[in-house]
Amino acid sequence: MDYEQVLQEIQLEVSPLLNDGKVADYIPELAKIDKSNFGMHLLTLDEQNFAVGQSQVKFSIQSISKVFMLAMAVGECQYSVFDRVNVEPSGDPFNSLVQLEYESGIPRNPFINSGALVIADILLSEFSNPKKEFLQYIHRLTGVSSIDYNETVATSEKALGYKNAAMVNLMKSFGNIHNEVEDILDLYFHFCSIEMTCEELARAFRVFANHGRGVVDSYSYLSESQFKRIAAIMLTCGFYDEAGEFAFSVGLPGKSGVGGGIAAILPNKYSLVVWSPGLNNKGNSLAGMKALELFTTKTHTSIF
Ligand code: GLN
Repeated sequence: MDYEQVLQEIQLEVSPLLNDGKVADYIPELAKIDKSNFGMHLLTLDEQNFAVGQSQVKFSIQSISKVFMLAMAVGECQYSVFDRVNVEPSGDPFNSLVQLEYESGIPRNPFINSGALVIADILLSEFSNPKKEFLQYIHRLTGVSSIDYNETVATSEKALGYKNAAMVNLMKSFGNIHNEVEDILDLYFHFCSIEMTCEELARAFRVFANHGRGVVDSYSYLSESQFKRIAAIMLTCGFYDEAGEFAFSVGLPGKSGVGGGIAAILPNKYSLVVWSPGLNNKGNSLAGMKALELFTTKTHTSIF
């Protein structure tokens, strides 16, 4: 399979879509990003790299960091994490509050904001310096020690993060939040503000494609069972109320973020990342979804 050629075809085919999406302007710093950006990076388990477009430009990974948060929490606390957050698709937008009230403050899954806020609370309780240790975790996953938080993006989101604040407060009223609201929000906004390139994200997700094991030293970040469960949550909950559509048209476990990135894996084969900042009305990258659909169609790969 000529992956280089496939990626070039895809770049050409999605280029008319780049203007259709809308950048995430509820975070003022993200509203400044140019919609014409498009990058893609494929990393196979036998260490071949293929890329097109702006695959080396750093962007805000936003909710993609929820996968790393969950992996770190499960690595530390195993499945007790799931006493406080469920594993069901929500069928609601990523920032919705409605289910939280009638489900007694237990979020549907760790990949919507409420669920990730509970995970941030767990990391805050478990680690002495979670901000530093989370970055170190990502440095180990990628081998890139320059990856960092973008303080301007974190501050920009914090200034207007009323809904996330409402969620933490509501969950605290049900007893499902143990630390101070402000501390959790600060940690969560920092996690979302991390900037990475398509290539760096593909490197991090290679560990998931490799059943939780790293490259060089075969270090196990996750057990086989932990990996399988996290991948299952990516497939069923990685795209909020568009998780069904992503499984339907792309057929890979993955995770999106409002920075316009999507990371996906085909276990045992590859990790694949696309970045295109224009979002559809569900908050997922519009051209990115199409690019991944074209990729699995052209390469005859998907988990099905
Ligand atoms: N930081 C964003 C928020 O909390 C992340 C949302 C996303 O990427 N879907 O709203």
